[in-house]
Amino acid sequence: MRLEDESESTNVEDRRGSGPATGFGKRKLGIWAIVIALVAAYFGIDPRLILGFLSVGGQVVEQHSTAATPARPGPKDEASIFVAKVLGNTERVWEQIFDELGARYSKPALVLYTGATPSACGLGQGAMGPFYCPLDQKVYVDLRFFDELQHRYGAPGDFARAYVLAHEVGHHVQKLLGISEKVQSLQQRSGEAQANQLSVRLELQADCLAGVWANRAHELRNILEPGDIEDGLRAAAAVGDDTLQRRTQGYVVPESFTHGSSADRAKWFRLGLKEGRLQACDTFGR
Ligand SMILES: [Zn+2]
Repeated sequence: MRLEDESESTNVEDRRGSGPATGFGKRKLGIWAIVIALVAAYFGIDPRLILGFLSVGGQVVEQHSTAATPARPGPKDEASIFVAKVLGNTERVWEQIFDELGARYSKPALVLYTGATPSACGLGQGAMGPFYCPLDQKVYVDLRFFDELQHRYGAPGDFARAYVLAHEVGHHVQKLLGISEKVQSLQQRSGEAQANQLSVRLELQADCLAGVWANRAHELRNILEPGDIEDGLRAAAAVGDDTLQRRTQGYVVPESFTHGSSADRAKWFRLGLKEGRLQACDTFGR
């Protein structure tokens, strides 16, 4: 990716190394993690509020009161600069697209954290993968996920990482367009299988929106280099539900999908990339 000329977003909140400052805080966080794990284990997993990047692991929607300690941002490193530049680019692209629609794009914040951090949607944990919380309109990223993406999921490359960020920003776009709310209220009135299907459509749409971003970002800022698109498609496929389920449990249960198959995730990302317009991302209509 060519990012040299991109200015960094000012909406990155760096909580790495901040965490709960006192021993008490740590203990409190630990207790919350255990309580939440037990609750999640008992009730099963509800991914509907926190739209985590992965379907694996317990995604938790418990509200809790662990207070955030003020962030003490460390020195900027290569990874955080990369994230800030990509986020800055998504701001410029989505502002333009919203402008064309006669609407206003309000920018999401992006929280960098390590391990665990409070969000308005509950405790964010690195194991969930990056996620977007519609209640505080923030994207949460534990940067260690990018190493996992490369080494565990076999999807290296900076554009693979940018796709992940753009997918989460895609959830923010869905929130602004009122799509997430509609889907959530439909889910509340439907059984588990149908709720999962709606979740898949919402996730595939976020993949498509990531593709739309990439198309427009290239048109506007000439950011793509040879090999980038392949990296993005590889990342989209690597985090498909069938691939993850085969890896974690050895077999595939399509009815339990919440994010979509590898083939579908890559397909919708590619479609958004090819078309470069919102109308291409009607994952609910087809
Ligand atoms: Zn998602």
